[in-house]
Amino acid sequence: MNDCIFCKIVKGEIPSNKVYEDEKVLAFLDIGPVNKGHALVIPKEHYVNIYDIPENLLKNVIAAVKKVSKAVKKGVNADGINLNMSNDPSAGQVVMHFHMHVIPRFKNDNLKLWPQSKYKEGEAEEVKKKIKENL
Ligand code: AMP
Ligand code: ZN
Repeated sequence: MNDCIFCKIVKGEIPSNKVYEDEKVLAFLDIGPVNKGHALVIPKEHYVNIYDIPENLLKNVIAAVKKVSKAVKKGVNADGINLNMSNDPSAGQVVMHFHMHVIPRFKNDNLKLWPQSKYKEGEAEEVKKKIKENL
């Protein structure tokens, strides 16, 4: 995609701090890290997000995510790793080229992730049904 910032990184048209590369996948440091070492793993080919990426390519991406997660954890001496991916703007996706965040976590980094809620009686069963109907 011509105006896609991550396609430009793949083509070397804008700089990035690459941490991993293979034939189909690239990983580089996020320019605005949650914690130092925060990396993004992307397919070199342009796909928007989880809905349109082919399963075969997703396998390559996930294998790279595993590799990069282990390297980030060791490399910055993290206590844990969060994997995060936003799909659609309403879920926080800003760059419309598939990317998975590999975020190193530290015992006292004080990051709070998701607030949680509760199901009313019978509600979980209804929601489950709606999801299963769409598989
Ligand atoms: P998302 O909100 O999941 O779409 O995340 C997009 C991420 O891309 C953000 O965390 C940005 O900091 C990161 N980002 C945007 N431009 C660049 C860039 N040129 N190099 C590295 N990371 C970038
Ligand atoms: Zn792209």
